[in-house]
Amino acid sequence: MEIKANNPALKSWIDIKPDSDFSIQNLPFGVYSDKQVTHHACIAIGEQIMDLHMVHHLHYFKGLSLPENIFANQYLNEFIALGKEVTRKLRDRVSELLSNTNTELQNSPNKDQIFKKQSAVQMLMPVRIGDYTDFYSSIDHATNVGKMFRDPENALLPNWKHLPVGYHGRASSICVSGHSFHRPKGQMKPNDAPPVFGPCKLLDFELETAFIIGKQTQMGETISTEKADDYIFGMVLFNDWSARDIQTWEYVPLGPFLAKNFASTMSPWIVTLDALEPFRVAGYKQEPKVLPYLEYTGNKNIDINLEVLIQPENSEATTVSESNYKYMYWTAEQQLTHHTVNGCNVNVGDMMASGTISGPEKHQFGSMLELTWRGANPIKMKDGSERKFINDNDTVIMKGYCQKNNVRVGFGECKAKLLSAT
Ligand code: MN
Repeated sequence: MEIKANNPALKSWIDIKPDSDFSIQNLPFGVYSDKQVTHHACIAIGEQIMDLHMVHHLHYFKGLSLPENIFANQYLNEFIALGKEVTRKLRDRVSELLSNTNTELQNSPNKDQIFKKQSAVQMLMPVRIGDYTDFYSSIDHATNVGKMFRDPENALLPNWKHLPVGYHGRASSICVSGHSFHRPKGQMKPNDAPPVFGPCKLLDFELETAFIIGKQTQMGETISTEKADDYIFGMVLFNDWSARDIQTWEYVPLGPFLAKNFASTMSPWIVTLDALEPFRVAGYKQEPKVLPYLEYTGNKNIDINLEVLIQPENSEATTVSESNYKYMYWTAEQQLTHHTVNGCNVNVGDMMASGTISGPEKHQFGSMLELTWRGANPIKMKDGSERKFINDNDTVIMKGYCQKNNVRVGFGECKAKLLSAT
């Protein structure tokens, strides 16, 4: 299927720097506010946002049969629920309006209300997330963790290559990029001593992406790997903050709980799966062969460059990890199929995170746990300080982008600041 808005030959009349995440081929969706606007849906283009409610209000979307106030909702859920046929037409129309061959908006007297600088607006949570699931689908991450905590010879548990392991997370504490939160407190157990309560000492990030469900199912339905893309609206960057010392003590036998649910951070722009299609690459070779319901055809991994930076208070940021989404063992499509194979229903706005994305090389690991090997090899920062895990007042910044044929499609930033425990 050819997607018009992805055409690499398209150029915008808006000035877009070559290294901008928000080319005319991207057009990701978000929700913003400023002094005039409580919450309007918008699209990112270069260094600006385009207010979709304003454009709709001025009748530039006529013919698309969109409900009148669809872009004035607090969240994108109702818009996404209109279905890909509608959201695709909208993205195509936006692409047309922004293209240098079109003058409709260029000459609009309302240009100042339609286009605003990203630096002048505040991005809000783009979706109301009903349910959140986190997977564990990077083979390098699972192998590293298995080597550290279990058996270096048998790092992967017997189920790992047969099903995409995951757990149900907590949606209430997912925040949009730019927030801060306090170091969590909890129970930890020092070696050979009774458990203690206090601020966690080993606060870590997890470099992840997440996909947003775009179409609901009924209980009893299963989404096949072949149809899975119809149910995925788009993707964001995701930081699954983790308290390693709390996790080590609490996770047996049911898995992650308070070590994870105190905060998670997502980037504000939902990059559509459509915009990511040109960057598809072959998936990991899965040996042993997966069960028939998990088989798939075609290129289902995506070449997304990922980066993590740590910025100490009043100091320069240091890059600590450079990974790529293409290293995933299990694809998003397989994750969604497995999630629904038992008849579990999904809703528009549900979020499913990839799991920590580590690559095969040491500088590609997606958590401090792996990068410093549990603190054994601290990372040198540009300001001369060292990090084993995340310090109070550090800001962790994640970035991601795809690039091919001079087209760049990026995610912007996923960033949050850790404050000291209260
Ligand atoms: Mn995780």
